[in-house]
Amino acid sequence: MVDTAPSISAKPAPAIRQRVWSALERNTCRLWHSALRMRARDITVETARRPAVILAPHADDETLGCGGVIALKRASGTAVTIFMATDGSASHRFEQSLATSREALVRLREDETRKACATLGVDRASVEFARLPDGRLEDHIAALAQSIRMVIERVDPAEIFVCAERDGHPDHQALAKAARRALRYGSYSRAVLFEYPVWSYDFRSWRPHGMSNRRGYLKALEAMIGSAKTWRMRSVDISSVQAQKAEALAAHRSQLGSYPPEPYWTGLPASFLRHFQMDHELFREIRPEEFGR
Ligand SMILES: [Zn+2]
Repeated sequence: MVDTAPSISAKPAPAIRQRVWSALERNTCRLWHSALRMRARDITVETARRPAVILAPHADDETLGCGGVIALKRASGTAVTIFMATDGSASHRFEQSLATSREALVRLREDETRKACATLGVDRASVEFARLPDGRLEDHIAALAQSIRMVIERVDPAEIFVCAERDGHPDHQALAKAARRALRYGSYSRAVLFEYPVWSYDFRSWRPHGMSNRRGYLKALEAMIGSAKTWRMRSVDISSVQAQKAEALAAHRSQLGSYPPEPYWTGLPASFLRHFQMDHELFREIRPEEFGR
């Protein structure tokens, strides 16, 4: 996921000005996060006992977005199934590699996912890998929707969690679309759909491409304020399992720049990770009328 963050499209500016813009954007994301939280209804007690399916585009998204809620559910003996959509093969395709082949990277990321999920209390049999091509999920939305339907029919969850359609990453958008499509027809599922923000906490997910810093900022701000006013937010207090989540995240060493055989691999920036190291997790409830046609 590291290399596939949303692309920066604004005009290059002198270094100092760019640093000021970056700081403003990071702080705007923090304020947006706080605004969502203020409006969120707390569902900590009820969610702990609801069986769930977690749909993740890449290895680490499950922990970043839902690590706390997964740990809380498992601590209550509630069933959790993890569905990992991509094979994780593209996370470092533009970075120097010393030792890791594509096949080895796929294996490494599956191992990291199993380890992270085990830390959260999810057993090996409840972690499923669809192994679709990393970075190309938009070419597989129909197949994904079908796979998701099959998982839902088999597991019959009360809650489904998927990355946010607003995340500025094509795989995240594709999986969110596939989840809505899977739930669109029929009343076969009793599940409530929640989106967990990942790249939505990165300003680049909001700024339209090809605009100047100033115009892009104002456009993004307008969209962020709109979402903070209208999204039906839910929050879960994860303070009791925060250490467990941190340990699970640490299992994704290849995504954190701490995988010794590859010293040149970069990791997710600290300012971005901060959104996932708090004592709560935020989710947007998606109503059936938003599943689309
Ligand atoms: Zn991702």
